[in-house]
Amino acid sequence: MSARRDTWYAGGTETGLVRAGNEDAYLVAPPLYAVADGLGGHLAGEVASTIAIDTLLDAAPRAADCKALGRAARVANAAVIEAAESGRGRSGMGTTLTAAMIDGTRIALAHVGDSRAYLLHFGQLERLTQDHSMVADMVRQGTLTEAESRVHPNRSVITRALGSDPNMVADAFEVDAAPGDRLLLATDGLTGMVEDARIAELLGAAPSPADAVASLIEEAMEAGGSDNITVVVVDIASASQPASQPRDSAAPRWWLRLLWLLAALAIIGGAAYAAYAYARSQAYLISENGVVVVYEGVPGSVGGVSLSWRSRVTTVPVDALDPITSARLGSGVRVDSLAEAEALARAYAERAAASAAPGSP
Ligand code: MG
Repeated sequence: MSARRDTWYAGGTETGLVRAGNEDAYLVAPPLYAVADGLGGHLAGEVASTIAIDTLLDAAPRAADCKALGRAARVANAAVIEAAESGRGRSGMGTTLTAAMIDGTRIALAHVGDSRAYLLHFGQLERLTQDHSMVADMVRQGTLTEAESRVHPNRSVITRALGSDPNMVADAFEVDAAPGDRLLLATDGLTGMVEDARIAELLGAAPSPADAVASLIEEAMEAGGSDNITVVVVDIASASQPASQPRDSAAPRWWLRLLWLLAALAIIGGAAYAAYAYARSQAYLISENGVVVVYEGVPGSVGGVSLSWRSRVTTVPVDALDPITSARLGSGVRVDSLAEAEALARAYAERAAASAAPGSP
């Protein structure tokens, strides 16, 4: 079984005992969680469910807003259709998608197909989603019982999925949970094998979400494991917990954006500091108001910012120096340190004094 977990959430998937491959996929990227059950057979179902999960993660809103989550499901739908048309996977592939985004005790959901979301609310198991399947329609119409639907030959015929209808609309709604509640997302590999009452027992008895995932998958395997089984369990805690905990590797984009911003600022800041430090190590002499002035830094400006600091105004007259030196002093004579600049200033002073002395050439 592949599994990802933390103290307040866990997800796991298992191929089961009958299927050759696993076409389910799931996502645990707090505060976003999802399961997807791919349809279309080997090399198609798993492509569809993986595309749906990946696209959901990219397109998910920043806040637990069910309408925005529903729009993300539509983006995932378009991505699955586009993939089939461009030869990724196969035409006719599709997937269910049941996604939840949690903000404190508020849960936004988007749902398509016959995977399910449940809430263990004050110990009572509530089914949050309605299956989009032929047998579920028959149960709602009263022509089939829940128990009969479980063994009906058309139990796997779903009436809404991602990957076929470009105008598909996901069920999107919000639910208020309570601290201590437990959210369950599962594909029909669990719910087709294990009755709700037993799911409630196992979900309620497990000390942690990871234990709940393991015991639910084990129960479905013992019941025959006739389909891929995928389970995500999340404990609903106080209002701030999910957002303030360390995140999974699939972190939401705002976090990555912040990281990029900090990295960019660090680079800009680092470059600015490097320029400043370089300038501080440099020095130059320049002619100002007819005398030689010593500066720390570099002449001119970088990006509109001056990187020079006046160190000392000498009494050396520029016109007392030779024409080449005085011309060079017009634009600045650069040296590698303030000490070198001071040494050069002293040399200029001596030359100026010599040229001013009587009898000099
Ligand atoms: Mg299935």
